Amino acid sequence: MANASWIRAEPWGIHLVPVDCWIDPARPVERALITHGHADHARGGHGETIATPETLAIMDLRYNTRAGVRPVAYGETVRLAGGVDATWLPAGHVLGSAQVLLEHAGERVIVTGDFKRRPDPTCAPFAVTPCDVLITEATFGLPVFIHPPVEEEIGKLLSARTANPDRCVLVGTYALGKAQRVIAELRRAGYPEPIWLHGALERMCRLYEEFGVELGDLRLVSDAQKDELRGAVVLCPPSALSDRWSRRLPEPITAMASGWMRVR
Ligand SMILES: [Zn+2]
Repeated sequence: MANASWIRAEPWGIHLVPVDCWIDPARPVERALITHGHADHARGGHGETIATPETLAIMDLRYNTRAGVRPVAYGETVRLAGGVDATWLPAGHVLGSAQVLLEHAGERVIVTGDFKRRPDPTCAPFAVTPCDVLITEATFGLPVFIHPPVEEEIGKLLSARTANPDRCVLVGTYALGKAQRVIAELRRAGYPEPIWLHGALERMCRLYEEFGVELGDLRLVSDAQKDELRGAVVLCPPSALSDRWSRRLPEPITAMASGWMRVR
């Protein structure tokens, strides 16, 4: 029976004992395998960082981690000295996000990192992969979380805009993943107008575009006249929803794109 005794859960990460590597460690280590770019998984300061090219680009944007990086494509296997094979597979969570398949001593172990199984136009879809042991986490895994269809939520957002042509619809979104997903879903719904961004969201959106995710006409709120924002869709980090920044907007109707994207 598989027991994956060669993998240990430590408070600061998942330790692959035979190869002395860590998955998503919370403190600097000699060699880190990173599932994706969110700050609770990817941190700077490791000797060597192995991740997808997209995740490495996100980490470089956030932490300037250009040194000691080793990019691996989806489906590519890295043989770690000490005898563990590691393969990065799509996790469907954000751009570049991966599950790591680990093979050692005849056992196949998957560490999913964050993942989702719903389609997301901004990243590769989750790959179902057979394994003996699954190590996972689930932020919204409890049955109490009901995820309505994305199309329905985007429809509500667009209806709110149509019903209030003198106001703007302001959506709070995290900079990595949620912002680009909301934009891409608006485009998929046929919304052709410029989408206005808080400055804190701009660089990550540009990085997505560099990796081929088309987001259409994006503009900065700081470049807008107030009247241009009437009837517009505006995205900002959740922290900006109620701060001074939002006062420049024309009577915003606010919504929050959270884990299950419910538009109030
Ligand atoms: Zn994440």
